[in-house]
Amino acid sequence: MVTSPSRLFSEIATAERPTETRVLMRRAVVLGGSIAGLMAARVLSDHADEVLIIERDPSDVDGGPRPGVPQGSQVHALLPAGQIQLERWFPGIVDEALALGAPPPPGDPGAAKIFVNGVLGLPPAPSDTGPMLITTRPFLEALVRRRTLAVGNIRMVYGRAEGLVLANRRVAGARYVPDGGGEPVVEPADLVVDAMGRSSRLSDWLADNGWPRPPMQRMPIKLNYATALFKQDEKVSDAWVVVYHTMAGKGRSARIGGINSVEGDRWIMLVAATTRTGPPATSPTSPPAAASTTRACSATSPNTGRCSAGWPRTTRRTADAGTSTSSTACPPDWSPPVTRSPPSTRCTARA
Ligand SMILES: Cc1cc2nc3c(=O)[nH]c(=O)nc-3n(C[C@H](O)[C@H](O)[C@H](O)COP(=O)(O)OP(=O)(O)OC[C@H]3O[C@@H](n4cnc5c(N)ncnc54)[C@H](O)[C@@H]3O)c2cc1C
Repeated sequence: MVTSPSRLFSEIATAERPTETRVLMRRAVVLGGSIAGLMAARVLSDHADEVLIIERDPSDVDGGPRPGVPQGSQVHALLPAGQIQLERWFPGIVDEALALGAPPPPGDPGAAKIFVNGVLGLPPAPSDTGPMLITTRPFLEALVRRRTLAVGNIRMVYGRAEGLVLANRRVAGARYVPDGGGEPVVEPADLVVDAMGRSSRLSDWLADNGWPRPPMQRMPIKLNYATALFKQDEKVSDAWVVVYHTMAGKGRSARIGGINSVEGDRWIMLVAATTRTGPPATSPTSPPAAASTTRACSATSPNTGRCSAGWPRTTRRTADAGTSTSSTACPPDWSPPVTRSPPSTRCTARA
């Protein structure tokens, strides 16, 4: 049955606790053990006898950003839909995060301050999704990893996935080189999931084995980003979340910035702008803190030394049925995608 991606997403994004646990396969292998890979493994653990995650970064990086997720040092906000899914698959995870030091939302809604063009707006409306979780990305990922690996039939091994194993034109496993080197290991699987993020080489692997390469779109976004961590100082502010947003207008370019209280009694602070020149050094409509983030970035981020900036482009690969140049990959009455720039990736219904 053909269904639109948005309809499919709304069907599977329910908040209901999973009840269907029919085992459909013996073994599933997930390549990449970041947020998507961990969540995929948790979902598959209800439907496979065994789930194996192959992750390039060794586990001893807990607590800090790691090379496989370079964006991990940037501000990450967990939106309500993501929080609902985390709680759905790992009941109690929000309470666990709070117990481990994620800052609890204050009783006073005024502790969340949202400025638009320098004007303080009304506090956000109360949410019915439970207390909002604000943490650094490494903290959240470490928690999700711990909960995932506590599931009896999920295991993680460390090494670099290098390719697929094929049998009769079907994927029958994956090959990886264990951490520390050595001979490649073949892991048989009934299903292999690619959760390797932006560095995935799945397109090359498919092309090497005679399948069309899923088209890739690169979109220049010229987003300059700077994030720094600071030790909290109540003398400066007791705010929980501060966001300032400057809309593009006459003599003004769009900018966004914010300060979130995160675990470890720290603030994480972000300034971002869609300009060629880097994060704004000063902004007439932003709190003075924004300027000091930029200065902190160019020196050293107090207490942590973590700081990063610049995000020139975003990349999207589309690997659905419409990505093939062969008309057989489209449903019978549909036309294959048209070649144009940027490439169309969709089959279209024939008139
Ligand atoms: C600047 C910035 C800010 C962002 N802010 C937010 C935000 O506020 N909120 C939000 O929800 N999202 C945010 N995102 C997006 C979010 O970071 C990504 O959507 C998310 O990290 C994608 O998760 P993933 O698990 O798919 O991939 P990734 O997190 O990229 O992980 C890929 C994993 O695969 C592993 N891997 C790669 N290659 C191999 C291999 N060959 N073998 C084995 N393992 C491999 C890596 O080590 C890594 O663990 C932001 C992104 C950026 C760049």
